[in-house]
Amino acid sequence: MGTPAKAWPPLSPFQTGTRGRCPRCGQGHIFNGFLALRRECEVCGLDYSYADPADGPAFFVICFACVPSVVLALWIEARFAAPFWVHLVTSLPFMLLTCIPPLRPLKGWLVASQYFYKAGESRLKSGVSSPS
Ligand SMILES: [Zn+2]
Repeated sequence: MGTPAKAWPPLSPFQTGTRGRCPRCGQGHIFNGFLALRRECEVCGLDYSYADPADGPAFFVICFACVPSVVLALWIEARFAAPFWVHLVTSLPFMLLTCIPPLRPLKGWLVASQYFYKAGESRLKSGVSSPS
């Protein structure tokens, strides 16, 4: 379960996350499958229960991959009045290739960023009186 006294140097969330590596040690793995997260790092024991990227990876894919895919399909349709089968061999593979592969590195990057920036839900501190 790692050495508690060991200081972990900060690692770039982009470098560790996009490769699916643990954001603390950079050696262990984040994923247990294509997009499923492990419960903890097998090298340093970091608990991944903090990780909750939610729809973040899908949001980035929609913004930066789906839109070009739709634009390509519309352009092919408008320019060539292409039959349906042309879209099956052009638009569909382009959409799948631009939408599926980025999900894993994006999710890893977001999980690593959550660890690096200590992001989480805000909590009210006890003993602080409400302003009302
Ligand atoms: Zn680790």
